[in-house]
Amino acid sequence: MLTNNLVESERLPVIHDVDVVVVGGGPAGVGATVTAAEMGLKTLLIEKYGFCGGSAVAGMSATICGLYLTHKQGQPNFPPKQIVGGFTKRFQEKLRENGGLTEPQLYGNTYLDVHETRVWKKTADELITQSGASILYHSYVVDIIKEETHIKGIVVATDNGMGIIKCKNVIDSSGNGIVAVMAGEDFTCGKDGVVQNPTIIFKLGNIDYNKFWDYYGKDTICHDEFSDKIRQAEKELGATLPRKKIWTFKAINDTELIVNATAINHDTEKLNMIYPEHFTYSEIEARKQLESYAEFFRKYIPGCENAFIGETSCEVGVRQTRSIKCKYTLKDEDVRDCKIFEDGIVKSSWPIELHRGEAPYLYWLEERYYEIPFSAFQPIKTSNLVVAGRCLSAEHAALASARVTAQCFEYGRAAAIGAYLAQKEGVALNEVDGKKVKQLM
Ligand SMILES: Cc1cc2nc3c(=O)[nH]c(=O)nc-3n(C[C@H](O)[C@H](O)[C@H](O)COP(=O)(O)OP(=O)(O)OC[C@H]3O[C@@H](n4cnc5c(N)ncnc54)[C@H](O)[C@@H]3O)c2cc1C
Repeated sequence: MLTNNLVESERLPVIHDVDVVVVGGGPAGVGATVTAAEMGLKTLLIEKYGFCGGSAVAGMSATICGLYLTHKQGQPNFPPKQIVGGFTKRFQEKLRENGGLTEPQLYGNTYLDVHETRVWKKTADELITQSGASILYHSYVVDIIKEETHIKGIVVATDNGMGIIKCKNVIDSSGNGIVAVMAGEDFTCGKDGVVQNPTIIFKLGNIDYNKFWDYYGKDTICHDEFSDKIRQAEKELGATLPRKKIWTFKAINDTELIVNATAINHDTEKLNMIYPEHFTYSEIEARKQLESYAEFFRKYIPGCENAFIGETSCEVGVRQTRSIKCKYTLKDEDVRDCKIFEDGIVKSSWPIELHRGEAPYLYWLEERYYEIPFSAFQPIKTSNLVVAGRCLSAEHAALASARVTAQCFEYGRAAAIGAYLAQKEGVALNEVDGKKVKQLM
């Protein structure tokens, strides 16, 4: 379905001419844009929504995962120990300064920080505009202009028509690897085409907070008795409640709950949100399913008797689509064995968190971490392109750990450092020495 319509596209007007185009303003795109501009590159971010954040904001993921070291099972009262710095720490501190981040909340054997989407958007706007980068919101990348192995320009569609952005290098932080696919790069989708299920996240208001948290406990992952209540409600209400192990977070205002519970599956189709038919089906199912979970909370959970549904994510959240085949593919064993790389650009201690079926599969690294190498972002065929974010080259279980927000910020930063080195040294971006990127991280 995707085309590289060179002849038609070249007739369009050139609307920008920059060093680096960043496609997609999720965590990876924001990290890339700010870093590239601050390193002196003329940088333009293109985002299809009117705000940054991607799955973290449009998908209302609610938290920054991947910040802290994971601890040993059953170790009580361990303190949060942060292992990711760089742009992630800067964004985290700015979010907190802007009043949009909670203190760390317990998640199994680790912690996460809960954010407020409105403040996330504002924080991204501030950092990007202060960096000197430009943004085009409400602009959709629909095509590229490619000459042999080189992308000469990006074609965007806006309400004012279509136009070309000429560029030296491209960072594809679209989540779906859209530019890489247009450029002819190969990709995989999950395990034999089966990807993690999407989820719509929602807030519940009018909660008796003390009563609820006394029952739910400190851990944001629900306890077994809570899961049993979901099973009971499923039988008694005849409701669609496919996921039995859910996450509930304290919102920044200390009055609402943020609920990560829904799971959109399909009996026969391998649901994949790159197909508009599947995305549409999932949006409609998700909106129905969240009402069933809200009813469950009201009828079965102490403190939620008068709860109402507040904000919902503006799209069903997409965890996984394409992984672009790059020079190195992060293996499932690399994560389980905690592999360290010569070109490792960021650490991760986040568990393998695979969303599929009744309960997400969790594999904890317990006081260990692995690294993600820069070569997992360098595509094979296109000379002036890197991918950044959840479309990195990774096997299925590896991606289920490596895809979270703290690491995505740093993937973006590494991609921008790569673009800086490519321009400074006159080398192809997909040939930049990852060890040099590591040194500058
Ligand atoms: C339901 C759900 C819950 C999650 N929970 C957590 C959590 O609690 N903590 C955590 O850390 N992570 C969580 N994640 C994961 C995390 O949010 C994502 O993995 C992360 O946001 C990925 O970042 P990214 O920058 O790679 O891509 P994305 O966040 O997907 O951003 C891609 C951006 O590109 C834009 N874009 C795409 N195509 C185009 C185009 N053609 N033209 C212009 N713009 C385009 C999109 O609009 C989007 O803004 C969750 C994800 C989901 C779906």
